[in-house]
Amino acid sequence: MPSTVKHQEFGDAPTEVRDTEHYQHEYVKSFVDKWDELIDWDSRKASEGDFFIRTLKERGAKRILDAATGTGFHSVQLVEAGFDVVSADGSAEMLAKAFENGRRRGHILRTIQSDWRWLNRDVHGRFDAIVCLGNSFTHLFNENDRRKTLAEFYSALNHDGVLILDQRNYDAILDHGYSSTHTYYYCGDNVEVKPEHVDEGLARFQYSFPDKSVFHLNMYPLRKAYVRRLMREVGFQHIETYGDFKETYREAEPDFFIHVAEKQ
Ligand code: SAM
Repeated sequence: MPSTVKHQEFGDAPTEVRDTEHYQHEYVKSFVDKWDELIDWDSRKASEGDFFIRTLKERGAKRILDAATGTGFHSVQLVEAGFDVVSADGSAEMLAKAFENGRRRGHILRTIQSDWRWLNRDVHGRFDAIVCLGNSFTHLFNENDRRKTLAEFYSALNHDGVLILDQRNYDAILDHGYSSTHTYYYCGDNVEVKPEHVDEGLARFQYSFPDKSVFHLNMYPLRKAYVRRLMREVGFQHIETYGDFKETYREAEPDFFIHVAEKQ
């Protein structure tokens, strides 16, 4: 059951919180309720265009697992585009919100609470594609968890399946500092997003809302080449990395990288 915890808990030393399990304490009800204000579905839809739907259709994908459902944005877009979608997430709080968002748009989402590290224990059957979007993979704080997750994704895919996983461009933040001139494609206009602390092992972001409420997420700053290497090492044969949905880009420029990894 979703918790009704209102406040995030990072303790006395927030920048020491570098723990894969901690996402459960970060997506508290009050933050989840604000999340859609943060990601503003209409402007997100406009900036993503048809990238994901086109990429999935080009590969003939039909059965899709949304592994990081969050409040359901992609699950709803995919259902509306005609895909057969299963919506998973490790957070009961997020799934409850996703279900409610789906219902409001006339859909009954098939939700399953599952931590990626044990995905195949909870989610049965094989998929043509898995999407893990909205900078979610960044919640894993150690390499074993990342390898385990990618291996679970790999094994849940059909033989010619595809994993689409995105991440913030942490290389740019680590190497060149944070530029507030970037447009963060999935943020609502009224939410101020900024990194409060960045080092090679932690990117702690602050989200400030118009009602003066402030939340944080502690994330692992994934370098692009590192994620690609891990994907290759767990068996993905071909990995294409897009920058803000484009094939060609200057490394420091994009806000987000999107990896399209083929199992083959
Ligand atoms: N994909 C959604 C979006 O784009 O709006 C949500 C993104 S949100 C930043 C990250 C999501 O990943 C959260 O819903 C969180 O519960 C989920 N998550 C983080 N770590 C997880 C894990 N180990 N297993 C399953 N879900 C996890």
